[in-house]
Amino acid sequence: MLLDEEIVKLVGMPEKAYKLLSEPDRIIRCRIRRHIPGVKGFIYVYLVYHSAARGPPGKGGVRMSKDVTLEEVAQLAEIMSYKNALMDLPFGGAKSGIAADSNLPPETKQIIMEGYAHELRNELLSGNYVPAPDLGTGPREMAVIFGETHIRESVTGKPIGIGGLPGRKEATGYGVSVISERAVQEFLKKDISDVTVAVQGFGNVGSWTCEFLSKMGAKIVAVSDVQGGTFCKDGIDIEELKKYSRENGTVCGFGGSRITNEKLLELDVDLLVPAAVGNVITKENAGNIKADLIVEGANAPVTKDADEILLKNRKIVVPDFLANAGGVVASYDEWRKGKSGSKTKKEETFATIKETLLEAFEETLQFSVRKGVSLRKSALALAATRIVETMEARGWL
Ligand code: NAD
Repeated sequence: MLLDEEIVKLVGMPEKAYKLLSEPDRIIRCRIRRHIPGVKGFIYVYLVYHSAARGPPGKGGVRMSKDVTLEEVAQLAEIMSYKNALMDLPFGGAKSGIAADSNLPPETKQIIMEGYAHELRNELLSGNYVPAPDLGTGPREMAVIFGETHIRESVTGKPIGIGGLPGRKEATGYGVSVISERAVQEFLKKDISDVTVAVQGFGNVGSWTCEFLSKMGAKIVAVSDVQGGTFCKDGIDIEELKKYSRENGTVCGFGGSRITNEKLLELDVDLLVPAAVGNVITKENAGNIKADLIVEGANAPVTKDADEILLKNRKIVVPDFLANAGGVVASYDEWRKGKSGSKTKKEETFATIKETLLEAFEETLQFSVRKGVSLRKSALALAATRIVETMEARGWL
């Protein structure tokens, strides 16, 4: 659970609100019952609504991974409650998970997604839960959900031809780059063009983060994916890396020298962006992190113990619910436009993300300075305050 005594005190949180936020509102666990060629046994699906105070809808992505658990989905749903509130979006926090290998052939993934949408049809058709891409899913999977509901606002992160938002696929990485630039200026007192960067993960979030940061002039010296990484002290050409990764299915073997995911995290760089899976910075390796600034592109890449070690070592961590909120900010636009049918240009999406994220950054920064707490605690307290205010306004407390 993200809340602790310090947050409760900072917020002046009533006991009932604390109780409501300390466990999920609702949990759905089901199995895809239809036959899936080539798959033995059942594929489990989890949907967790953490807090519906600012919803419905509950908003949060669909994670497809063979290791995904109900606990992990619940943790991610909790993060979504605070992320949505910090961005001041009228969404509750939710998340879903499909316990299947995301590297299965596209036709098999399609059948799995049809099964997922079928099992969750009541949640999707009622608009209670509005999914988006997360680890292991993308526009193609969102298109399958739309194909089952035929309701544009039932899912975001869709391909553009069926109501997707221009700029949505780049949105999270764009937001991470905007926040990184501002944080580098604030905490490292440097321009983004003067810093070295290591990025873990080269999927949706990692690859777009690399692209935008490199366009801003930052020197990306290391990038990795699930198979390992590549390091080049003179900087990596991201366009070339994208091409290489598309052709070879991995960044490994591209230029420079090969590096493990573990070593990438411990490189002597200015900025570290974990943008793959959760719990990669733990109490075991937190003491070895050399980057002065860590911007969480992934959700929950730093464990609670590790966070304390990093704080003690004077490392600055920009938390997930601030750093990677560009995706959900764009999703809000896509959701609204699904209802109205109006169109947007990519540049408008980027402008909205920049404005919303930087405003949240300034609020978080000021509150953290005023109260002498970390950025994570500050962002959490601001978001929790908004949730509690909404609970009060709804007569729940
Ligand atoms: P993705 O599936 O597109 O890419 C994941 C990347 O991580 C791939 O390069 C993959 O090879 C790599 N990877 C997988 N397992 C790994 C491991 N054990 N070690 C190192 N690398 C590994 O996923 P994504 O959408 O880019 O999501 C990445 C992270 O960002 C997740 O934590 C997700 O929750 C978070 N996030 C995503 C979005 C979004 O809009 N897609 C929004 C907010 C947060």
